[in-house]
Amino acid sequence: MTSSPATRLRVLILGGTTEANRLAAAVANDRRINAVLSYAGRTENPTPPPISWRVGGFGGIDGLVDYLRTEKIARVIDATHPFAAQMSAHAVAACARAGVSLLALKRPPWQRVPGDQWIEVDDVAAAAEALGTVPRRVFLGIGRQHLKIFAAHPQHSYLVRLIDPPRAPLPLSGAEVIVARGPFDLAGDRAMLTKHRIEIVVARNAGGDAASAKISAARELGLPVVMVRRPFIPAREKVETIAEVLRWLGHGESPAERGV
Ligand code: NAP
Repeated sequence: MTSSPATRLRVLILGGTTEANRLAAAVANDRRINAVLSYAGRTENPTPPPISWRVGGFGGIDGLVDYLRTEKIARVIDATHPFAAQMSAHAVAACARAGVSLLALKRPPWQRVPGDQWIEVDDVAAAAEALGTVPRRVFLGIGRQHLKIFAAHPQHSYLVRLIDPPRAPLPLSGAEVIVARGPFDLAGDRAMLTKHRIEIVVARNAGGDAASAKISAARELGLPVVMVRRPFIPAREKVETIAEVLRWLGHGESPAERGV
């Protein structure tokens, strides 16, 4: 059955993650869903999704409420990164105000396994403190916006991995930079940590496969990991898989798949 454009379910997917791109692909050919994927605009060349997309902030909670109303959005899927706490909190507030249903699609956090030497902390500032006073060779797998925090701890030597080449000098002078886009694999990350004689890894508990290699590599090499716990996000309905999102949208299976 084909729905007319007016009756198609208008869905906003808050993206910037692999999960959001996979979800976009999963709904792209569903003619009952009319979804738009939203990027913050942090990455220079986001992967063009197979559905319509937009780039840039909404202008806070008020801006998002306006967007939901103007675009007649019926459902919002928050598929942002688990550390995108502000966007997620705005989605909770704006959806409540606009009377729009919200579902969060979030990958489960990594769990400590035997061999892991994690030092768990609540935020990146605490991670920088946890490195201590003795100079160490540190791998920062945390994204460029947090680098300046480590500038206050210049006794350490830093190796930083970034998705895009830095256009301006980094706020962490003297850091060595590797430009690479995930997913990363265990052999590659083990070789990188060994080659740069890294003594400790700083990571945020993003979960998922794309960035987990550094955690496995640290375990194999017997290196400690300063692991930043996930930020607080107000309560909302949350699932971990695309199949669950599709069920929530009421379109997990097409009539043909159900044999109707
Ligand atoms: P954030 O701190 O939670 O959000 C800051 C502001 O950026 C939001 O208030 C919103 O601006 C805008 N924004 C964020 N995500 C957006 C989206 N999908 N569409 C439109 N506007 C968005 O977010 P962040 O940590 O800077 O992350 C930004 C984006 O990068 C997110 O889309 C996230 O999924 C992706 N990402 C983040 C990380 C990370 O480590 N944080 C890692 C990988 C990917 P307005 O208030 O103006 O609406």
